[in-house]
Order: sequence, then C-alpha cells, then structure tokens
Amino acid sequence: MEERFFGLLRDNGLKATKGRVEVLRLFFKAGRPLAQKQIMEMLRLKLDRASVYRILNAFTGAGIIHMAFVDGRHRVYELPGKCSGRNCHPHFSCRGCGMTACLEDFKVYYKGALGKGFVAERQKVLIEGLCPNCRPDRDRRHE
Ligand SMILES: [Zn+2]
Ligand SMILES: [Zn+2]
Repeated sequence: MEERFFGLLRDNGLKATKGRVEVLRLFFKAGRPLAQKQIMEMLRLKLDRASVYRILNAFTGAGIIHMAFVDGRHRVYELPGKCSGRNCHPHFSCRGCGMTACLEDFKVYYKGALGKGFVAERQKVLIEGLCPNCRPDRDRRHE
C-alpha cells in the first residue's frame, strides 16, 4: 500500500516525505473529499497546520488532488478519480458535520443554459444539506 504512495509522489515529481505519504494515505482511506480540518483530525503523524497546508498546495500543483469546492472558509480537496479540476462532478456537503460525498452519477448539463459568448472554465456544483447522521428527526424516530 505505502509503495503505491511513494510511486505516485515520485511520478509527480514530489519527494516522498513522511508527511506527504501520510496525507496521501488519508485521501485514499477516506475515499471522499477532505478539508484540511478533517485531515488534521485523521493524522497519525504530528504535522502542524502549516505543513499540511504546504502538502495540500504541493499536491494541488502536481495534480495529485484538486480543489473540489470551497465550503464556507474551508477548501475541500479530492483525488481526481473520474473528474478533473476543470470538470468536477457535483458534491454534497453536510452543514452539520462537514461530511462530503461525491455525486458521480449526477450529471449536470449546463452548456445550453449558458448564453452565447460565455466560456465555461470550471464546473462546481454543490448541494448543501444534512447527512443521515445529522438529520434533526433522526433521534426522534428512535424514541
Ligand atoms: Zn452530517
Ligand atoms: Zn468528488
């Protein structure tokens, strides 16, 4: 498993430092987009915020991850998977716990909606709401 991370970093021209390997591991483990705050909570290594910030910037620059969307003050990053930084699938973001989900089967056709002369540069569709764990009626149903 770790070997795969070393390879991915090297192939993208990045030295495989412990911190980089750890952050990459978290993205693969989570299998969903992550904000820096969530990464900080999941770390097995001691890394400060500035180090994680630099790692995320290096990964973004190398194309290993891209910014999926901005949620309030939080940037949420993900592995490319089936999309690119230019044409990303829609996402769901829970305003309760901050959990995010990729809506890869949800296609948004916007081309016809854009007027003549407009150039689309990036698609970013975000559905905001509550996940099953944060639904206010959840506890009541179990009483
Ligand atoms: Zn939630
Ligand atoms: Zn996604």
